[in-house]
Order: sequence, then C-alpha cells, then structure tokens
Amino acid sequence: MFLDPQGCPVCQYCVEAEDQFFRWFDIEAFADPAMQLRLRRSAGFCAPHARRALAIRQLAPAHAIVRGALDRLGSDPPAPGECPACASVSQAREHAEQMLGSVTASRAMSARYAQRERGACLPHLTATIAVGDADVARSLAEKLRRDLATSDDLELLAGRDREADSRVALRAALPSGLAVDAASSAEAERATWHVDACPVCLAAGRSERRYLDWRRHEERADAIDLDQDPGLLCAAHVHELAALDERAGGRAARRVRERWVHELDGLLKRWPPPPPRTRRLLRGRRRAPAPRLRAPLCPACRARDGAEERHLDLLLRLLAQRPYADAYDAAHGVCLRHALLAGEGPAAGRIRGALRARLAALEWEIAEAGRKQGWDARHERPGPEQTARLRLAALLDGATFLGGPARELP
Ligand SMILES: [Zn+2]
Ligand SMILES: [Zn+2]
Ligand SMILES: [Zn+2]
Ligand SMILES: [Zn+2]
Repeated sequence: MFLDPQGCPVCQYCVEAEDQFFRWFDIEAFADPAMQLRLRRSAGFCAPHARRALAIRQLAPAHAIVRGALDRLGSDPPAPGECPACASVSQAREHAEQMLGSVTASRAMSARYAQRERGACLPHLTATIAVGDADVARSLAEKLRRDLATSDDLELLAGRDREADSRVALRAALPSGLAVDAASSAEAERATWHVDACPVCLAAGRSERRYLDWRRHEERADAIDLDQDPGLLCAAHVHELAALDERAGGRAARRVRERWVHELDGLLKRWPPPPPRTRRLLRGRRRAPAPRLRAPLCPACRARDGAEERHLDLLLRLLAQRPYADAYDAAHGVCLRHALLAGEGPAAGRIRGALRARLAALEWEIAEAGRKQGWDARHERPGPEQTARLRLAALLDGATFLGGPARELP
C-alpha cells in the first residue's frame, strides 16, 4: 500500500478501518455489552460517525447512548469516553503514519516512495512531518512539495472525504430566513426556536452556510482580495465547496495549494542541514524535531464557531428573563454538546433540566420502539416512536444534522 503508485496510504488505511468498524458494529458489536458500555461512556458517536451509525437501525445502542447522556447531566458526571469509531480510526491512522515513517526511513524504500505518482496527502503529512525523524520528515516534505506543484488532485490536497456531498445536501436543507421584522436580536433569536433543532447548532450551521455561499460567489468572480485573506480553507471545507460548485471549489483548492507550496518552500529553507555523515554514523540516527507546519485558521470554521459561541452567550442571557425562559421550555432546546458548554448558573441549570426531561421521554420512546419489534406487538402499528433514534441523535449533537432538524439521512 505504501508503495502503490498513487493515493494517500494513510487515508486508505483510515477508510478501511472505519468501514471495518461499522461492518463489525452492524453484524455483532451493537449487541455486545462491552460496546454498549463504551457507547454509554461516550454518550454515542461523534457527529460524522453518528450520521453513519444512523444507517444501522438497531435499537440496543440507543438504550446505552440515552443512558450515557443522562449520566452526563447527573450531579456526578463520569469522565467522558471517546467515540468508539474515532478510536478505531485514530489507532489505524497512528499505525499508518508510523509505517509511513519507517518505510521511508530506509534509503531504497524512500527512493521508491519518491517515485510514486503521488504520495501521502497534505493533512496526513502535516501531522506526520511534525513528529519523528527529521531526515525522514524532510524527504516526505520534499515529495509533498513536488506533488503539490504538479498535481491538482483533491485527495492530495485535502485527504479523502466520502461524505462531503451528504454534508452539502444537509446544509442546503437547513431552514433559512432570519426574522427580518424582529424588533431586537432577542426576538430574532426567539423566532428561531420554532425550528425543531438546537438553536445554537442552527445558528452555527446557518453561519457556515452563509460563509460558503459568499465564498462560492467570490470564487466564481475570482475576487483578488481572497488572496490577501490570512485564513485558509480547511480540508473539509475545500471538499464541501468543491461538492457545492466544481468551478468555485477548483479555484479555492488552487489558492490553498499555492499557499501550501509557499509554506513548504519556507519550511524546507529553514530546515536544519543534516550533520556530516561520519558524525551521524557515530551518533546513530539523529532524532532532532522537524520544523513545524501550522495550518492557518479556516474562515468557514471561524464563521461557524464564532456564531456558536455568540448564540450560546445570547441564549444564556435571554433565559434570565421569564417570557424567554417559558418559550425555551416549550422549544427543542440545545443539544447535549452545548448544554455541557453552558457553564454554571441558573440559566445553565435550566438548560440541563429541560434536556434531562426530554431525554427521559426519549428513553421511553426508544423502549417503546423496541417493544414493537417483539412478536407480541405484531398487530400494532408503528407510531412516532420509530423516529426516536433520529431525534436522539439531534439532541446529543445538533451538528449531526449540521444544525437542522432530525431527519432520515439519504
Ligand atoms: Zn491522507
Ligand atoms: Zn467518531
Ligand atoms: Zn447544539
Ligand atoms: Zn473549515
């Protein structure tokens, strides 16, 4: 795999590990008590993996997940666990990165790696170059510099991303429209509570979409000031822009590529020269740290994260006023991720109390959906409890639906 003619071997390894995890989860792990314990500790999967897990229609994990969410909101919350799918993928990534380092450490293999049409991708190499042997890192950085200068392959620039299209579709389906006739920001905020989704995630999703729509327009117009922008689109947002609009995505990718070629040129110039060969042989392999490659801030991530922070702040202030607090109690309310970020105080207590109550009702619905799967309920009609697992995913993290209401994924 490491000497295949093209494609990032680390991406390949991670994709295989992820597929393997979900195959195993679908066939047997969902019912395994050890896996259920892990899911309880992590209160479910992270948002991207939750989207994938929703395709698996088993209810057993949902029981453990809702319990885990209630544990988090309890008076003595346990230490949070890692998303089990992320744990498998990061183990595979570390292994692949180590292998990449050791394969290229041998002179013969390093020469073969350099002859590949394209080597490992930029996101994986920026992580690998910062650690490990400086000589190996230098040869990897040189190869990446050559690859980026000669290839406009999106995987080389931004890694493999298999769900950019579905994120774009979810984002396009976000309910739009600010309350333009609202008399104040407080009223505008309250107007968004009629949407059945976490209001903080919704504000973040809308802000991210606004940025990407603007960016698409600017890229199509080939606006020069984008080159002066201090930020640089991250891998996920380059993929999304490309999935949204090929031409705008292609231009954005070119900008990112040019900036990284420039960064790598600077990095290779600053690289400490290798010590004389004799000294190297005497001292063994040098383990000096390689210079660091830092990814600049992504403006789309910044737009999303900034909106998230501001709207959570506004929400907490509004909950100090009675009419808003009553309206909040009747609305969807914030997801678990945001409830845990709300801090302390009466408003945060109200958020957590409301979420606990909603999760307790969902727990009943999940049990009800399970009951209806039994032979003795064959005569009963499926009811609204059938969508409880989707609503649970939205209550755990609104980012699962990119800020929009829970829905069946395509
Ligand atoms: Zn990769
Ligand atoms: Zn995950
Ligand atoms: Zn949220
Ligand atoms: Zn980003």
